[in-house]
Amino acid sequence: LFLFGSLSAALIALQWSGPTFSEESLKGMRVLVTGASTGIGEQVAYHFARMGAQIVITARREHVLKEVVKKCMDLGAQKALYIAADMAEMADAERVVEFAKEQLHGLDYVVLNHIGPSPYGMWDADVDHVRWLMQVNFHSYVKMAVKALPALEKTNGSLIVVSSLYGKMCLPFGLPYAATKFALNGFFGSLQHELAMKHSNISVTICTLGLIDTESAMEKIKGYIDMPAYPAHEAAYQIIKAGALRENEAFYPWYTFYASLFRDWFPYYRDQVIRKVYKYQP
Ligand code: NDP
Repeated sequence: LFLFGSLSAALIALQWSGPTFSEESLKGMRVLVTGASTGIGEQVAYHFARMGAQIVITARREHVLKEVVKKCMDLGAQKALYIAADMAEMADAERVVEFAKEQLHGLDYVVLNHIGPSPYGMWDADVDHVRWLMQVNFHSYVKMAVKALPALEKTNGSLIVVSSLYGKMCLPFGLPYAATKFALNGFFGSLQHELAMKHSNISVTICTLGLIDTESAMEKIKGYIDMPAYPAHEAAYQIIKAGALRENEAFYPWYTFYASLFRDWFPYYRDQVIRKVYKYQP
């Protein structure tokens, strides 16, 4: 308890002494957000819009993107454009970054957030799905980062990668998803080292999220786990804030930080708890 208390106090003190977030600093910033037709990505787009940014959003469904763009303009975006793309296609991933760079005349923020639909439940041994999901949730992130890094280097820019507790801890019922999130954490965590060693201007922020109340997540977990879901608009705000403050890692909600920190301390008890929390009713 003493250790836990001291640690929390130290972390809070550290946070207080760090730079503060100013929404004003995002005015006019050139931003690309993926997976922005629904859920957390949509909320990220709305926050940036409210803060007066210039935004390009992408996802597959054009008619939904059109609506989000309209709302972004109503909220105060300096510019809002969309480009429909399927992240299973590497050419699309490349095309999206090129479009954003051209239309916005550069990039300050890139938020990689999209995920392909994936079944939730006991793994059904579908190897092709794992390969496909890797394309959508991981390879396209790498492709987009490669295309965006030179533009971000010029602007002291930020690359934000939306990950999950599933990328930090082994949990049941989302095996292909977990594989893609561990891959993201491994790749972009290692990239952070290399960029720092090269004294690069780019910051990379990896966001670890817990359960967020998006429609797709709520639908998936029904009957498998019973725990509080946190609001998507708040998750989106924390993602932007962490990126703007150039933090290496962001955790939302709070318990994701402690779960990641204590993950390997008591593996036997951790596994017992996980297998009790997630319900399996064959
Ligand atoms: P949603 O399912 O609500 O949104 C996914 C987005 O990705 C949509 O805009 C969808 O639009 C787009 N998308 C899906 N497939 C493709 C594709 N092939 N090509 C391009 N775009 C695609 O997800 P959430 O908002 O819940 O999650 C957002 C991020 O947050 C993800 O990275 C997720 O891992 C992370 N996260 C979410 C949690 C949660 O509980 N919600 C928990 C932990 C992490 P369209 O269908 O139009 O293509």
